[in-house]
Amino acid sequence: MRPIITKCLIRSLCFALVLSMMTVEAFFPVVAAAAQKHATLDAPMPFAHPLRRSEQPVGPRSKPDDIMRDVEQTLEEDVVIPGDPTQCISDIAVIEGLPDPLVGENGCGVDQPVVLKGLAQNPEMSIRPNPTLRCDFAKSVAMWLQEDVQPIARKIFDEELSEVVGGPGYQCRRRNNSKTGKLSEHARGKAMDISAFRFASGRRVSVEGDWAVEGVGDARPSQFLRAVHKSACERFSTVLGPEADVHHRSHFHIDIGCHGKTCTYLICQ
Ligand SMILES: [Zn+2]
Repeated sequence: MRPIITKCLIRSLCFALVLSMMTVEAFFPVVAAAAQKHATLDAPMPFAHPLRRSEQPVGPRSKPDDIMRDVEQTLEEDVVIPGDPTQCISDIAVIEGLPDPLVGENGCGVDQPVVLKGLAQNPEMSIRPNPTLRCDFAKSVAMWLQEDVQPIARKIFDEELSEVVGGPGYQCRRRNNSKTGKLSEHARGKAMDISAFRFASGRRVSVEGDWAVEGVGDARPSQFLRAVHKSACERFSTVLGPEADVHHRSHFHIDIGCHGKTCTYLICQ
């Protein structure tokens, strides 16, 4: 009896071993595929819009870590250089140059500070409050409003934009108002926030209230905001909106910060 029992036990064990190996073989590709898919989903989200279309660098692309290091270095090395704000002239922007460079604590400051009052060719449109920005950025913002945002407003609503509601532009603070971390581009006068747009008829479109279309409501405010966001991505190096993070649910943040070794990376979220 004993040899028979031993044989049976050995056969059972062998059978179980072979079956378990077959099972692993059979499932391994599935497990591997699932692991690969999971790894893809877990991969860090792209830090930036890959490349500015008109300025694609020839060399290898920077990694996100390199980009962050560059941003830090840029902020540390980018000392405030006194300039002459009265030299800031534009055909499009109505600009008031401030008499002296702004110098704040912890590296804050604007070398060519100006107040953006409005658009020369569009005096009915106001920017509230008039933001304090660095000269070159103020001119870029005015050009964007004149050449992109107004035409988008006319196309979608068939009426004129009468007011852009935003923030003060220059603010000596860190990113997302944190107590620690990197300086915000606002601290250099190179960033501006926009929360709402008002039109000649009194219509108001806000980033917080109209980015998403509710039910079967009018889709045009959302279309307008998304077209404006897209157009900003063509002009500025950083554009953050409601889909970027919780800090930007209520406004668009646009800036001309430097990303990557050659400042050619864009963040468009
Ligand atoms: Zn901002």
